[in-house]
Amino acid sequence: MSENQLPQFPEPFWRETELPTFKKLDTSIKADVGIVGGGITGITTAYLLSKQNFKVVLIDSDEILNGTTGHTTAKITAQHGLIYDEFIKHMGEEKAAKYYKAAMKAKELIEKLITEHKIDCDYEQQDAYVYTSDDGYMMQLENEMKAYEKLQISSEFLSEIPLKLPIKAAVKMHDQAQFHPLKYLKELVQECKKNGVLFYENTTAVDIEYNKHPNIVTRDGHRITCNHVIAASHFPFYDKQSFYFARMYPQRSYVLAITSKLKFPGGMYINAENPTRSIRTTPGDKGPLWLIGGESHKTGQGESVIHHYEKLEQFSSKHFDIQDIVYRWSAQDLTTIDKVPYIGPVSKGEENVYVATGYRKWGMTNGTAAAMMLADRITETPNEFAEIYEPSRFQPDPSVRKFMEINADVAKHMLKGKLDFSNNKLTELKTDEAVVTRINGTRTGIYKDKKETLHAVDTTCTHLGCEVEWNSGDRSWDCPCHGSRFTYEGSVIEGPAKKPLAKVEIPNE
Ligand SMILES: Cc1cc2nc3c(=O)[nH]c(=O)nc-3n(C[C@H](O)[C@H](O)[C@H](O)COP(=O)(O)OP(=O)(O)OC[C@H]3O[C@@H](n4cnc5c(N)ncnc54)[C@H](O)[C@@H]3O)c2cc1C
Repeated sequence: MSENQLPQFPEPFWRETELPTFKKLDTSIKADVGIVGGGITGITTAYLLSKQNFKVVLIDSDEILNGTTGHTTAKITAQHGLIYDEFIKHMGEEKAAKYYKAAMKAKELIEKLITEHKIDCDYEQQDAYVYTSDDGYMMQLENEMKAYEKLQISSEFLSEIPLKLPIKAAVKMHDQAQFHPLKYLKELVQECKKNGVLFYENTTAVDIEYNKHPNIVTRDGHRITCNHVIAASHFPFYDKQSFYFARMYPQRSYVLAITSKLKFPGGMYINAENPTRSIRTTPGDKGPLWLIGGESHKTGQGESVIHHYEKLEQFSSKHFDIQDIVYRWSAQDLTTIDKVPYIGPVSKGEENVYVATGYRKWGMTNGTAAAMMLADRITETPNEFAEIYEPSRFQPDPSVRKFMEINADVAKHMLKGKLDFSNNKLTELKTDEAVVTRINGTRTGIYKDKKETLHAVDTTCTHLGCEVEWNSGDRSWDCPCHGSRFTYEGSVIEGPAKKPLAKVEIPNE
């Protein structure tokens, strides 16, 4: 049982920032480049291209910066967990070195833009640590250290870290950074506006049509005719039969922002084992806020969501002497089969529609690197990193095994949902709770809101027909197969699904 009170509603600290708002697109327009998605990828790409005099239009289905970028922990680092030993084994030293270099180039660009535009975004240089408290992970840490040495990454192997945690070992990567992502991106949006970028919010892209040029088709039936389209929509809104849903899996994670009686010693931390624990601080109104993240699991799977927050609270209480829990939030990110993002043409031969996705919770650097690579493609500038991120690549090892795993898991959840003959009693439903029951044979999810109004939806996901599960922490219906999420009224929060859940009439008793 929690000792400290969790905030009732999820709200990321970053979203306290006052952001510009934009109207909905209400006509068809033309642009050189149409960007779908106003997160770090879309906004950075819009900035880079508009600097080079491209006419850019950026649309977002929601408000800008309310997707994963608004719910991140915003470490800017090339230390993406334990990855370099694995990359060297699977794709060789040269490509692993390129991955590291691309992330460091992204960090450099962020620094350059902060300096150039005098952006006040709590940017701080910090060392990054992967630690383990488990003897079983010692060899992996040692191998990671050897990989750092091969790649000449400035680093140290440690048996203690500045933070008071019982650890066995840690690998430290020097000179990484952290910032307030929305203070930073808000200024890039202002710069984009000066460069003529047109932003539209509450404007959903549903398809691409081809005439002479690609046209982004919006839900309201308007067209953005452009020479290049960038799907920076987190999960690509347009697939071109490339089956991105079968080549990536979504993982949710949770964050608590706490105040502590302890003094933070500096550094950014993540453990190697499960459950994940990620730790950094950021300046808050009443002193530093400690961001404690982790508890990753596949979207729509696992235990009741609120337990994940409780576990982070227990970890924080045990080690960091909590004063107050000020914010809580959660979000998901996508991981590709070989853990390298997909950045480039959506499919082979379709050279003017691009995707950037699969950042594995390292999108501050991966998203910025993606923006640099996509801008280079459009300006026809050679880019030394583009090849390893090519979405159409095929790496037999370990891809095939992982592909089978992802899709066997989907099949398992598809079947489990169909065999779940839930018939819970509606009469027992309390305020702010949901049940799954059967109405006229349809598996129906019913949420009772604060005003005691019932919202009933057909739980069959509109993507490929799996059964969605209730997420009590975010009050959403989440799909365990491919990570689509829906509000309790059935609207799409995130894809791959494009259509809302069907509403169900609750019969009078
Ligand atoms: C809990 C958590 C912690 C993390 N911590 C870190 C960290 O410390 N460091 C790090 O580097 N990375 C971290 N990440 C990862 C990082 O936050 C993400 O990889 C990154 O923010 C993704 O940015 P994006 O621009 O691709 O997507 P998003 O920020 O999700 O932006 C996509 C946008 O597209 C819009 N959209 C979607 N579909 C459509 C459509 N059809 N039409 C129009 N618009 C659409 C959405 O509304 C959204 O605004 C973390 C992720 C999570 C979940």
